[in-house]
Amino acid sequence: MIEVSNLQKYFGDKQVLKDISCEIKDNEVVCVIGPSGSGKSTFLRCLNALEKAQEGIIKVNEFVVTDPRLDHNKLRAHAGMVFQRFNLFPHMTALENITLAPIKVKKESTEVARQKGRELLKRVGLGDKENSYPHELSGGQQQRVAIARALAMDPQVLLFDEPTSALDPEMVGEVLDVIKSLAHGGKTMIIVTHEMGFARQVSDRVFFMDGGQILEVGTPEKIFTKADGERTRLFLSKIL
Ligand code: ATP
Ligand code: MG
Repeated sequence: MIEVSNLQKYFGDKQVLKDISCEIKDNEVVCVIGPSGSGKSTFLRCLNALEKAQEGIIKVNEFVVTDPRLDHNKLRAHAGMVFQRFNLFPHMTALENITLAPIKVKKESTEVARQKGRELLKRVGLGDKENSYPHELSGGQQQRVAIARALAMDPQVLLFDEPTSALDPEMVGEVLDVIKSLAHGGKTMIIVTHEMGFARQVSDRVFFMDGGQILEVGTPEKIFTKADGERTRLFLSKIL
Protein backbone atom coordinates (compact mmCIF):
# COMPACT_ATOMS: atom_id res chain seq x y z
CA MET A 1 0.00 0.00 0.00
CA ILE A 2 1.08 3.55 -0.71
CA GLU A 3 0.05 6.13 1.87
CA VAL A 4 0.60 9.84 1.52
CA SER A 5 -0.33 12.16 4.38
CA ASN A 6 -0.32 15.95 4.22
CA LEU A 7 2.44 16.19 1.66
CA GLN A 8 3.72 19.73 1.10
CA LYS A 9 6.34 20.51 -1.50
CA TYR A 10 7.90 23.86 -2.33
CA PHE A 11 10.37 24.97 -4.96
CA GLY A 12 11.83 28.07 -3.35
CA ASP A 13 8.83 29.88 -1.94
CA LYS A 14 6.46 28.50 -4.58
CA GLN A 15 4.26 25.74 -3.19
CA VAL A 16 3.74 23.09 -5.87
CA LEU A 17 2.12 20.31 -3.81
CA LYS A 18 -0.51 21.45 -1.34
CA ASP A 19 -1.45 19.13 1.45
CA ILE A 20 -1.79 15.97 -0.60
CA SER A 21 -3.17 12.91 1.15
CA CYS A 22 -4.12 9.67 -0.56
CA GLU A 23 -3.94 5.89 -0.37
CA ILE A 24 -3.26 3.47 -3.18
CA LYS A 25 -3.85 -0.22 -2.66
CA ASP A 26 -1.58 -3.05 -3.67
CA ASN A 27 -2.04 -4.01 -7.31
CA GLU A 28 -4.14 -0.94 -7.97
CA VAL A 29 -3.69 1.03 -11.20
CA VAL A 30 -4.08 4.78 -10.78
CA CYS A 31 -3.87 7.26 -13.62
CA VAL A 32 -3.01 10.84 -12.72
CA ILE A 33 -4.37 13.49 -15.05
CA GLY A 34 -4.43 17.26 -14.95
CA PRO A 35 -3.16 20.41 -16.62
CA SER A 36 0.48 21.22 -17.27
CA GLY A 37 2.20 22.54 -14.17
CA SER A 38 -0.36 21.04 -11.78
CA GLY A 39 2.31 19.00 -9.97
CA LYS A 40 1.84 15.53 -11.46
CA SER A 41 5.52 14.86 -12.11
CA THR A 42 6.56 16.36 -8.80
CA PHE A 43 4.07 14.14 -6.98
CA LEU A 44 5.41 11.04 -8.72
CA ARG A 45 9.02 12.08 -8.09
CA CYS A 46 8.30 12.55 -4.39
CA LEU A 47 7.04 8.95 -4.23
CA ASN A 48 10.42 7.54 -5.14
CA ALA A 49 12.46 10.27 -3.47
CA LEU A 50 13.69 11.97 -6.63
CA GLU A 51 12.26 15.08 -4.98
CA LYS A 52 12.28 15.77 -1.29
CA ALA A 53 9.08 16.92 0.33
CA GLN A 54 9.25 19.63 2.98
CA GLU A 55 6.39 18.27 5.03
CA GLY A 56 4.22 15.21 5.23
CA ILE A 57 4.68 11.46 5.32
CA ILE A 58 5.01 9.12 2.36
CA LYS A 59 4.96 5.37 2.82
CA VAL A 60 5.50 3.00 -0.08
CA ASN A 61 4.85 -0.44 1.34
CA GLU A 62 7.58 -1.03 3.92
CA PHE A 63 9.52 2.11 2.94
CA VAL A 64 9.03 5.38 4.77
CA VAL A 65 10.13 7.60 1.90
CA THR A 66 10.14 10.74 4.02
CA ASP A 67 12.43 9.20 6.65
CA PRO A 68 15.91 10.75 6.35
CA ARG A 69 17.45 7.32 6.90
CA LEU A 70 15.80 5.96 3.73
CA ASP A 71 17.96 3.70 1.56
CA HIS A 72 17.36 5.28 -1.86
CA ASN A 73 18.69 2.35 -3.86
CA LYS A 74 16.41 -0.10 -2.09
CA LEU A 75 13.40 2.12 -2.54
CA ARG A 76 14.11 2.58 -6.24
CA ALA A 77 14.50 -1.15 -6.75
CA HIS A 78 11.10 -1.51 -5.11
CA ALA A 79 9.45 1.41 -6.94
CA GLY A 80 10.71 1.66 -10.52
CA MET A 81 10.13 4.68 -12.69
CA VAL A 82 9.71 5.09 -16.43
CA PHE A 83 10.20 8.61 -17.76
CA GLN A 84 8.91 10.53 -20.74
CA ARG A 85 12.38 10.43 -22.27
CA PHE A 86 13.66 6.93 -22.10
CA ASN A 87 17.13 7.78 -20.71
CA LEU A 88 18.73 4.60 -22.00
CA PHE A 89 22.52 4.47 -21.84
CA PRO A 90 23.50 5.18 -25.46
CA HIS A 91 26.70 3.14 -25.46
CA MET A 92 25.01 -0.02 -24.17
CA THR A 93 22.87 -2.56 -26.03
CA ALA A 94 19.25 -3.11 -25.11
CA LEU A 95 20.20 -6.17 -23.05
CA GLU A 96 23.08 -4.38 -21.32
CA ASN A 97 20.77 -1.51 -20.39
CA ILE A 98 18.41 -3.99 -18.79
CA THR A 99 21.00 -6.05 -16.91
CA LEU A 100 23.11 -3.20 -15.54
CA ALA A 101 21.16 -2.50 -12.36
CA PRO A 102 20.35 -6.14 -11.50
CA ILE A 103 24.07 -6.93 -11.71
CA LYS A 104 25.35 -3.80 -9.97
CA VAL A 105 22.64 -3.14 -7.41
CA LYS A 106 21.01 -6.52 -6.87
CA LYS A 107 24.28 -8.43 -7.30
CA GLU A 108 22.69 -10.90 -9.67
CA SER A 109 25.12 -13.04 -11.65
CA THR A 110 25.64 -11.88 -15.24
CA GLU A 111 24.21 -15.14 -16.52
CA VAL A 112 21.00 -14.94 -14.49
CA ALA A 113 20.55 -11.24 -15.27
CA ARG A 114 21.00 -11.84 -18.99
CA GLN A 115 18.56 -14.72 -19.01
CA LYS A 116 15.95 -12.65 -17.18
CA GLY A 117 16.71 -9.69 -19.44
CA ARG A 118 16.04 -11.77 -22.54
CA GLU A 119 12.70 -12.91 -21.13
CA LEU A 120 11.76 -9.32 -20.38
CA LEU A 121 12.70 -8.23 -23.90
CA LYS A 122 10.40 -10.94 -25.24
CA ARG A 123 7.66 -9.76 -22.93
CA VAL A 124 7.82 -6.23 -24.39
CA GLY A 125 7.93 -7.62 -27.93
CA LEU A 126 11.64 -7.08 -28.55
CA GLY A 127 13.03 -10.59 -28.39
CA ASP A 128 15.14 -9.95 -31.49
CA LYS A 129 16.68 -6.66 -30.33
CA GLU A 130 18.94 -7.62 -27.46
CA ASN A 131 22.10 -6.53 -29.29
CA SER A 132 20.68 -3.29 -30.68
CA TYR A 133 21.90 0.05 -29.41
CA PRO A 134 19.36 2.74 -28.54
CA HIS A 135 20.10 4.74 -31.71
CA GLU A 136 19.18 1.67 -33.75
CA LEU A 137 15.73 1.49 -32.15
CA SER A 138 12.59 3.54 -32.74
CA GLY A 139 11.27 5.74 -29.94
CA GLY A 140 8.57 3.20 -29.13
CA GLN A 141 11.11 0.39 -29.03
CA GLN A 142 13.41 2.43 -26.79
CA GLN A 143 10.57 3.10 -24.41
CA ARG A 144 9.74 -0.60 -24.31
CA VAL A 145 13.38 -1.32 -23.44
CA ALA A 146 13.08 1.30 -20.67
CA ILE A 147 10.01 -0.52 -19.34
CA ALA A 148 11.87 -3.85 -19.46
CA ARG A 149 14.74 -2.19 -17.61
CA ALA A 150 12.40 -1.04 -14.85
CA LEU A 151 10.88 -4.53 -14.65
CA ALA A 152 14.31 -6.14 -14.34
CA MET A 153 14.56 -4.99 -10.74
CA ASP A 154 11.31 -6.82 -10.06
CA PRO A 155 9.63 -3.78 -8.53
CA GLN A 156 6.38 -3.97 -6.61
CA VAL A 157 5.49 -0.46 -7.70
CA LEU A 158 5.84 1.05 -11.17
CA LEU A 159 5.66 4.78 -11.73
CA PHE A 160 5.20 6.12 -15.25
CA ASP A 161 5.58 9.81 -16.05
CA GLU A 162 3.95 10.49 -19.42
CA PRO A 163 5.55 7.43 -20.96
CA THR A 164 4.18 8.13 -24.44
CA SER A 165 4.24 11.89 -24.77
CA ALA A 166 7.68 12.03 -26.41
CA LEU A 167 6.68 9.46 -29.02
CA ASP A 168 5.49 9.84 -32.57
CA PRO A 169 1.77 9.08 -32.69
CA GLU A 170 2.19 5.77 -34.50
CA MET A 171 4.33 4.43 -31.65
CA VAL A 172 2.05 5.36 -28.78
CA GLY A 173 -0.13 2.27 -29.13
CA GLU A 174 2.66 -0.30 -28.84
CA VAL A 175 3.91 1.26 -25.59
CA LEU A 176 0.43 1.59 -24.10
CA ASP A 177 -0.24 -2.05 -24.99
CA VAL A 178 2.85 -3.12 -23.04
CA ILE A 179 1.76 -1.06 -20.03
CA LYS A 180 -1.76 -2.50 -20.24
CA SER A 181 -0.30 -6.01 -20.28
CA LEU A 182 1.42 -5.27 -16.96
CA ALA A 183 -1.65 -3.87 -15.24
CA HIS A 184 -3.16 -6.03 -12.51
CA GLY A 185 -0.24 -8.44 -12.76
CA GLY A 186 0.76 -8.12 -9.12
CA LYS A 187 2.16 -4.60 -9.27
CA THR A 188 0.88 -1.27 -8.12
CA MET A 189 1.02 1.22 -10.97
CA ILE A 190 0.74 4.99 -11.00
CA ILE A 191 0.66 6.47 -14.47
CA VAL A 192 0.73 10.16 -15.31
CA THR A 193 -0.80 10.39 -18.76
CA HIS A 194 -2.55 12.61 -21.25
CA GLU A 195 -3.94 9.53 -23.03
CA MET A 196 -7.50 9.65 -21.77
CA GLY A 197 -8.74 6.60 -23.68
CA PHE A 198 -5.95 4.58 -22.15
CA ALA A 199 -6.60 5.99 -18.66
CA ARG A 200 -10.21 5.03 -18.99
CA GLN A 201 -9.40 1.46 -20.02
CA VAL A 202 -6.59 0.64 -17.67
CA SER A 203 -7.17 2.43 -14.38
CA ASP A 204 -9.03 1.42 -11.27
CA ARG A 205 -9.09 5.03 -10.17
CA VAL A 206 -8.22 8.36 -11.70
CA PHE A 207 -6.72 11.26 -9.74
CA PHE A 208 -7.36 14.70 -11.17
CA MET A 209 -4.69 17.19 -10.11
CA ASP A 210 -4.82 20.94 -10.43
CA GLY A 211 -2.85 23.68 -8.70
CA GLY A 212 -0.80 21.26 -6.62
CA GLN A 213 -3.79 19.43 -5.20
CA ILE A 214 -5.62 16.20 -5.94
CA LEU A 215 -8.96 17.81 -6.58
CA GLU A 216 -10.97 14.76 -7.49
CA VAL A 217 -10.59 10.99 -7.23
CA GLY A 218 -12.92 8.50 -8.82
CA THR A 219 -13.41 5.51 -11.05
CA PRO A 220 -12.69 6.26 -14.70
CA GLU A 221 -16.41 5.88 -15.39
CA LYS A 222 -17.18 8.57 -12.85
CA ILE A 223 -14.38 10.99 -13.76
CA PHE A 224 -14.88 10.79 -17.50
CA THR A 225 -18.66 10.85 -17.62
CA LYS A 226 -19.94 12.58 -14.50
CA ALA A 227 -17.17 14.29 -12.61
CA ASP A 228 -18.30 16.31 -9.61
CA GLY A 229 -15.74 19.06 -9.86
CA GLU A 230 -16.18 21.94 -12.23
CA ARG A 231 -12.43 22.14 -12.83
CA THR A 232 -12.31 18.43 -13.66
CA ARG A 233 -15.10 18.85 -16.19
CA LEU A 234 -13.52 21.96 -17.67
CA PHE A 235 -10.16 20.21 -18.07
CA LEU A 236 -11.76 17.20 -19.72
CA SER A 237 -13.92 19.32 -22.00
CA LYS A 238 -10.75 20.92 -23.37
CA ILE A 239 -8.92 17.72 -24.13
CA LEU A 240 -11.55 15.08 -24.92
P1 ATP B 1 3.40 18.73 -17.15
O1 ATP B 1 2.04 18.17 -17.50
O2 ATP B 1 3.73 19.92 -18.00
O3 ATP B 1 4.48 17.71 -17.12
P2 ATP B 1 3.25 18.62 -14.24
O4 ATP B 1 1.84 18.51 -13.79
O5 ATP B 1 4.06 17.38 -14.30
O6 ATP B 1 3.26 19.36 -15.66
P3 ATP B 1 5.33 19.58 -12.50
O7 ATP B 1 6.45 19.31 -13.42
O8 ATP B 1 5.18 18.68 -11.33
O9 ATP B 1 3.95 19.69 -13.30
O10 ATP B 1 5.51 21.06 -11.99
C1 ATP B 1 4.70 21.63 -10.98
C2 ATP B 1 5.18 23.05 -10.72
O11 ATP B 1 6.48 23.00 -10.14
C3 ATP B 1 5.30 23.91 -11.96
O12 ATP B 1 4.90 25.22 -11.63
C4 ATP B 1 6.77 23.86 -12.28
O13 ATP B 1 7.18 25.04 -12.92
C5 ATP B 1 7.40 23.75 -10.89
N1 ATP B 1 8.67 23.01 -10.92
C6 ATP B 1 8.84 21.73 -11.31
N2 ATP B 1 10.12 21.33 -11.16
C7 ATP B 1 10.78 22.40 -10.67
C8 ATP B 1 12.13 22.63 -10.28
N3 ATP B 1 13.05 21.67 -10.35
N4 ATP B 1 12.45 23.86 -9.80
C9 ATP B 1 11.52 24.84 -9.69
N5 ATP B 1 10.23 24.68 -10.02
C10 ATP B 1 9.86 23.48 -10.50
MG1 MG C 1 5.09 16.40 -15.82
